[in-house]
Amino acid sequence: MKTQVGIIGGGPAGLLLSQILHVNGIDSVILERQTRAYVLGRIRAGVLEQGLTDTLRRVDVGDRLDREGQVHGGVNLAFGGRMVRIDLEGLTGGKTVTVYGQTEVTRDLYEARDAMGGVIIDEAEDVTPHDLTTDTPALSYRKDGEAHRIECDFVAACDGFHGVGRQSFPSGSLKTYEKVYPFGWLGILSRTKPANHELIYGNHERGFVLCSMRAERLSRYYVQVAADEDVDAWSDERFWDELCRRLPEDVAAGIEQGPSIEKSLTPLRSFVAEPLNYGRLFLAGDAGHIVPPTGAKGLNLAASDVHYLSEGLISYYGSGDESGLRAYSERALRRIWKAERFSWWMTMLMHKLADDDGFGGKVQRAELDYLTGSQAAMTALAENYVGLPYYPRSRDFLNQASSSTNRSAFQLRAALRPSFSRIELNSSISGDDSRLARAMASSSIDRSMTWRTPIISYEALMSFLLYSTVAAGSLAIVAA
Ligand SMILES: Cc1cc2nc3c(=O)[nH]c(=O)nc-3n(C[C@H](O)[C@H](O)[C@H](O)COP(=O)(O)OP(=O)(O)OC[C@H]3O[C@@H](n4cnc5c(N)ncnc54)[C@H](O)[C@@H]3O)c2cc1C
Repeated sequence: MKTQVGIIGGGPAGLLLSQILHVNGIDSVILERQTRAYVLGRIRAGVLEQGLTDTLRRVDVGDRLDREGQVHGGVNLAFGGRMVRIDLEGLTGGKTVTVYGQTEVTRDLYEARDAMGGVIIDEAEDVTPHDLTTDTPALSYRKDGEAHRIECDFVAACDGFHGVGRQSFPSGSLKTYEKVYPFGWLGILSRTKPANHELIYGNHERGFVLCSMRAERLSRYYVQVAADEDVDAWSDERFWDELCRRLPEDVAAGIEQGPSIEKSLTPLRSFVAEPLNYGRLFLAGDAGHIVPPTGAKGLNLAASDVHYLSEGLISYYGSGDESGLRAYSERALRRIWKAERFSWWMTMLMHKLADDDGFGGKVQRAELDYLTGSQAAMTALAENYVGLPYYPRSRDFLNQASSSTNRSAFQLRAALRPSFSRIELNSSISGDDSRLARAMASSSIDRSMTWRTPIISYEALMSFLLYSTVAAGSLAIVAA
């Protein structure tokens, strides 16, 4: 079999990449080790950043998300017997997060890939990448006892932390950075009404607690436990009791208890591998990095990796331009490290630390006090929590335009700010017509390539530039 991009792993990263490539006319094949039922049964992330929800909508996977996802404009920190709401929406100029289970994202992506004839090979065993430094890499695998081989142009390893992708780098070609935390999260899922309409992250002398949700009557709760805790030692009754003891009294009083339908232990780890590519092999998602779940960043980082990687592949297949693929690792890692920092910081802020009675505990409580009393500190938390922007290829493009057109630096910088008054594109624009039309529909650009809306969003500009190639020298940006 032949394809353009061979994808290892049918989790959210692999499925999303395949879907983006498909709507951009690029073929891919996904090899997944597990059965589909197993992949769909995994209960994991549930807080989606706007970058991910925008991407899902752009590739026709947003309908159910828009119907069933819960948009949250705030998040709560509970400590010292009180609860403080961080106004995400107000502090970030209108940005929000959406609560929608990873299981649902995965289901929607599987359905979209099936409907569009995508090739996903489940229960593929012994997947092995070959010839990664040549122009014709390949993936071999076994299915139902038979050996198969897929020839491709590129291999995307979206196969999670324990996958084969990262292991295929030659020894010495990867540098890894790791921090393992001495605690884990014991989580349950239960068909009960959530404790609150927005998430509550709690810091308590007995340990961290998180009240989250997946749907109107589907709650997800976590309590901090030892990293090697025995899950079987936790009856539902013990779990609910511990949860309530760690929450402010009024919140605990409103907790609806019920039988757990899933109970599991998640160890906490920070991990990054650098670089994210070797020859024609690219790592995306958990294959290249792990964050502790405290900042709700894992799934979202997988999506931003896929965004950068797909941009590189779209440029390559559209115009033979390899610069996006060459820059992939560096671009993705810039955003990854910021999310690593934020997830580590939130973990250290909210968990019971080894020296809780000493200096560490005192500093932690001072930081919570400072954070919840400072608009600047809350804004920093909010902008990280809703998700930092995807640094666009267009930034490079605009820099090129700057040097070739004598536009003033001020005008070009204005385009990188969230709002500006007018964009005029005066000459040739090339790109797939249907994609241009889609970008135009979402950003009010008419076919004469002049924006009619006086104030247009940053996202709309980036979405347009992502799908089009504008001849350098043709762009005029008029500052607000
Ligand atoms: C309890 C928990 C809570 C979390 N909460 C959040 C949250 O709120 N927000 C957030 O953003 N993130 C969260 N995360 C993290 C998030 O779930 C992951 O970051 C996300 O699943 C990464 O997606 P992925 O596609 O990169 O990897 P995975 O989901 O791990 O998918 C990899 C796929 O590759 C397959 N595979 C592995 N090896 C092979 C092989 N050799 N051959 C073929 N296929 C293979 C696997 O079966 C799997 O289907 C949470 C994680 C956990 C465990």
